[in-house]
Amino acid sequence: MSDALQLFRTAARQFIQKEFVPHQARWRQQQRPDAEAWTQAGERGILLTDVPKEYGGGGGTFAHQAVVVEELAHAGVQFGAHIHSVVAHFILASGSEAQKRNWLPRMARGELVGAIAMSEPAAGSDLQGIQTTARRDGDHYVVNGSKTFIANGSHAGIVCLAVKTDVKAAGPKGISLLIVEPKDLPGYRVGCPLEKVGMHAQDTCELFFDDVRIPAANLLGPAEGRGFFQVMEKMGYERLAIGVAAVATAEQAVVETTKHVKERRLFGKPLIEFQNTRFKLAECKTEAHIARVFLDNCIERFMAGAVDDTTTAMAKYWLTDCECRIVDECVQLHGGYGYLVEYPVARMWTDSRVHRIYAGANELLKELIAWSL
Ligand SMILES: Cc1cc2nc3c(=O)[nH]c(=O)nc-3n(C[C@H](O)[C@H](O)[C@H](O)COP(=O)(O)OP(=O)(O)OC[C@H]3O[C@@H](n4cnc5c(N)ncnc54)[C@H](O)[C@@H]3O)c2cc1C
Repeated sequence: MSDALQLFRTAARQFIQKEFVPHQARWRQQQRPDAEAWTQAGERGILLTDVPKEYGGGGGTFAHQAVVVEELAHAGVQFGAHIHSVVAHFILASGSEAQKRNWLPRMARGELVGAIAMSEPAAGSDLQGIQTTARRDGDHYVVNGSKTFIANGSHAGIVCLAVKTDVKAAGPKGISLLIVEPKDLPGYRVGCPLEKVGMHAQDTCELFFDDVRIPAANLLGPAEGRGFFQVMEKMGYERLAIGVAAVATAEQAVVETTKHVKERRLFGKPLIEFQNTRFKLAECKTEAHIARVFLDNCIERFMAGAVDDTTTAMAKYWLTDCECRIVDECVQLHGGYGYLVEYPVARMWTDSRVHRIYAGANELLKELIAWSL
């Protein structure tokens, strides 16, 4: 942290508290944020904080992005800003100058909402198994197939789509990334938001492609067949961002639970006066602190360009496992109230569970870590 980052944090917190928090119940009911929330966030400079200013971004570092993710997590707001950022970083890393100038400024203003479309009904962990195809036809690709679990799906104005451009190529070599602008695009269809057990305010949808024509100029990178490697290159960014959300959630769960056990009385005394309560919260606070130190170390190394995929996999796996242990204990200490949606800890419990599954299931990440042994 620095003074400048602290100022940025204060501004982000005030914005989130004023413009997002009051609408959470409605967002959960409608299963997505308001569309205006994106342009408001753009106006207030909390989108693409770590994208260079020449492309409309905030010109900051991953630390700015971490501040936004933390503040959203502390406030219990589900808003897919980090997925939006990951799309921008795909474009930044692999896009041509014309592509960057075309898409990034509009993403920074929140006019184009970013989504990443990799997963399919038969291929989640196994990205190489995707079946959505893009066949070259003149100066277009013709895309057929479907994607599932796509966060920001219903608002998406720009989709980073994984396709097979060469169905005969072995292993990862047939996969490419195409940028799709779905507005008024014939053959493109978004399903209803999927009914999830948590993250109710986030639109997670199926996407369908039926002979959808995408300009060949929307291929990301200089040639076909680079998609798998482009994804792997940017996974560290997404995994670290999830680690940030995990630690912020765990810390907030300890804060909420400490408050609750001081107020809640049973057997004639506050719940915190039972040794079990104190010991359990002491364990949670200690684990959250260890997680914070590990995370901060990863962020520092990431910003210095000195973190490897093994470490970001460790961060995502360990920090999200740790988060789920802590939040579950905090639910237990809340008793029945911890099971009521109106209590933040209950929402943390359901919202955090998916952290262990997406952006590489934790088991897959252990395999990746094991390769380094
Ligand atoms: C709320 C939500 C949001 C999501 N957002 C997006 C999105 O925006 N874009 C997108 O493309 N996808 C998204 N996903 C999909 C997500 O990335 C996948 O669900 C995830 O990769 C797991 O794939 P799967 O669901 O097909 O499970 P499977 O691949 O069937 O895996 C099932 C389980 O098998 C185990 N497993 C997997 N691989 C291994 C291994 N190598 N060794 C041992 N065990 C293993 C793990 O326990 C895993 O959980 C989202 C999912 C959810 C639930």
